Amino acid sequence: MNKKTDLKPRLLIVSGPSGVGKGTLLKRVLSESGLPLKMSVSATTRNARPNEKNGIHYHFLTQEQFQEKKNAGEFIECFEVFGRGVWYGTLKADVNAGLDEGNFVVLEIDVKGANEIKKQFPDAITIFVKPPNVEILKERLQGRGTESDEAMKNRLNTAIEELNHAEEFQHCIINDNLDKAVEQFIKIIKENL
Ligand code: 5GP
Repeated sequence: MNKKTDLKPRLLIVSGPSGVGKGTLLKRVLSESGLPLKMSVSATTRNARPNEKNGIHYHFLTQEQFQEKKNAGEFIECFEVFGRGVWYGTLKADVNAGLDEGNFVVLEIDVKGANEIKKQFPDAITIFVKPPNVEILKERLQGRGTESDEAMKNRLNTAIEELNHAEEFQHCIINDNLDKAVEQFIKIIKENL
């Protein structure tokens, strides 16, 4: 139980295609909700982008380090999100530490990871963030300019596939206006605590 709020610590799963703006949305939700929310820091084998810091945005691991943790059972779930050997995983230790501190632990993960977590944490709240349309998603992904053409194509194909799974989530938010999306997101959490 969280001492300040008397709320039971829970997991909050947030999924949605790459480029939909989950990161920006979550940053606003975390600073504006007034709730004890804490991001879980996933591990990944992808390279850090210029603005990303190890241990804050991700735990950036080599393939060997990742596989070692996988074999040692340190992940609650882990997947090759865009195929081609790029791994992402949720660390048990990170999530448990967040819950033990009385937080709602926020997992920003893909649809496959979300399904795995739901099996293990049935009382998790699940939210899917959708783009207004696929064209906008394409523009956002291209505008980011952090990916090669090949990686971009993979992301877009995965994104289109992921959109077919939106109904598997309890709540769906269309991110066409950031202020509105933030408001809707906070409302959903507060109504479901
Ligand atoms: P990016 O490379 O743009 O940071 O993230 C790409 C995708 O990986 C995101 O859509 C995100 O949801 C997913 N992702 C990030 N961390 C995890 C994780 O720990 N597990 C799973 N299954 N997916 C993750």
